[in-house]
Amino acid sequence: MSVARAPVVAYVGIGGNLGDARATVERAIEALAQVPSTHRVACSSLYRSAPVDAGGPDFINAVAALETTLTAPALLAALQNIEQAEGRERPYRNAPRTLDLDLLLYGDGRIDSTALVVPHPRMQERAFVLRPLAEIAPARVSDAAVAAVAGQAIERL
Ligand code: ADP
Ligand code: MG
Repeated sequence: MSVARAPVVAYVGIGGNLGDARATVERAIEALAQVPSTHRVACSSLYRSAPVDAGGPDFINAVAALETTLTAPALLAALQNIEQAEGRERPYRNAPRTLDLDLLLYGDGRIDSTALVVPHPRMQERAFVLRPLAEIAPARVSDAAVAAVAGQAIERL
């Protein structure tokens, strides 16, 4: 007999910079609401940001909050399925991408496996994560962290 697990609030970073990135991000936000055993409980505004360590056009970004009873690896698999459905390819590191879904936070969980590191190791360096995350979960982002990325080009749409 399996025991029901308590729901966890997870935060997902959403970004894309190929094709109609805004439409892709909006579809991804809808797809996140359809993930099994999961409810989408909040979503930030959309943001436009200049690529960081990556090529191509500006990114469209957002962050969604999901309440889920999936394990973190199962949630990551669901995110990767949505990326695949949007035609995500990985020709090289930091290549332009139709859709990137990153698991930023999984409750207060700390995970350090080959396939999954949570909290996401680069989230503190990225205005395109911290700004939308602070909009929907101010308690999860310090003012100092936002101040540290203040030089990065980003606008709320
Ligand atoms: P990035 O988002 O860093 O540009 P990718 O989206 O191509 O790169 O992800 C590469 C790998 O990162 C994935 O195969 C996944 O297993 C791993 N990974 C580790 N931690 C995370 C996380 N928190 N969220 C998403 N992917 C992660
Ligand atoms: Mg990713």
